[in-house]
Amino acid sequence: MAEILVLVDHVDGEIKKVALELLTLANRLGEAAAVWVGPGYEGAKDKLAEYGAQKVYVAADEELTSYVVAPRAALLAQLVGEKSPGAVLVSATGEGKEIAGRLAVKIGSGVLTDVVDVADGFVAEHSIFGGGIIAHAKVKTGTPVIAVRPNSIAPEAAPATPAEEQVTVTLSDTDKAAKITEKVIEEKGERPDLTEAAIVVSGGRGVGGAENFKLIEGLADSLGAAVGASRAATDAGWYPHQFQVGQTGKTVSPQLYIAVGISGAIQHRAGMQTSKTIVAINKDAEAPIFELVDYGVVGDLFQVAPQLTEEITKRK
Ligand SMILES: Cc1cc2nc3c(=O)[nH]c(=O)nc-3n(C[C@H](O)[C@H](O)[C@H](O)COP(=O)(O)OP(=O)(O)OC[C@H]3O[C@@H](n4cnc5c(N)ncnc54)[C@H](O)[C@@H]3O)c2cc1C
Repeated sequence: MAEILVLVDHVDGEIKKVALELLTLANRLGEAAAVWVGPGYEGAKDKLAEYGAQKVYVAADEELTSYVVAPRAALLAQLVGEKSPGAVLVSATGEGKEIAGRLAVKIGSGVLTDVVDVADGFVAEHSIFGGGIIAHAKVKTGTPVIAVRPNSIAPEAAPATPAEEQVTVTLSDTDKAAKITEKVIEEKGERPDLTEAAIVVSGGRGVGGAENFKLIEGLADSLGAAVGASRAATDAGWYPHQFQVGQTGKTVSPQLYIAVGISGAIQHRAGMQTSKTIVAINKDAEAPIFELVDYGVVGDLFQVAPQLTEEITKRK
């Protein structure tokens, strides 16, 4: 079976969930071969093995992570030349898509981005117009380079004993054109990362103002959840844009998604409709969100949310 290269997303050795999703997908398509770039591999290797990496190419040289995306594209291009994989999977994040584009140019291949699934024969699935249309596409030239949206595939543990191979790449001057001069670690609160959280509580226009978002935060904290928001709420400046869920925001796929004061516009659904269990609190029984939910509460969020928070806190 052909190797499927998976570029592992990590922050200083801490593996992002999307990398485990890509390993799961890669093993469906062939043999998952993880590509690790930069320091931190020793602390992460068990997780890669747990999620089915059959092989790991380790490019530990710190220089590779001292520049913006170009070195990772150069490394992947080298591996494609040497190993002839069936496909290359990267995450469809901003960085991942840039790496995918650069790689495709370097190896003369087709590239598909924002893919939500890949079937046999490397037929990629795209969910477009807010999930209203499913499109299928296939790379016809070269080794398919496929950028897969985070939270599209459920990661499955599939323990393996990966063979490790150290790899080096010589960077050209163009690979070194954009150097990272400073890294600022974003202040992280107690809450889990929005795109990786098992539970997300989101607030919308119904919340009515920035100060009322403390109701959403209170409910989220009682559940150990991340906080999200609709675009109406972020555009109004009630909650920061980085928490927007939807077509032009983050895609989430938690075990539980609670939409509070959100109508359920198609662009919002696009970012949360694959959540396992969906609950909505909305005072309008006709709100479109109720077409989607597993459980719905028709009621005023200013009454329902505090009661729910209190009850959950009591039962903990
Ligand atoms: C190109 C494009 C991209 C977009 N991308 C996104 C995106 O990424 N994410 C996104 O969210 N939107 C996106 N939108 C906007 C989207 O179309 C909707 O306008 C937006 O999602 C509406 O947000 P909302 O549900 O919070 O507000 P509304 O649609 O105004 O809904 C508010 C809801 O709150 C309920 N409500 C009001 N008061 C209460 C109360 N006291 N108690 C309970 N319920 C109450 C109302 O009944 C209503 O259903 C995009 C639009 C476009 C055109």
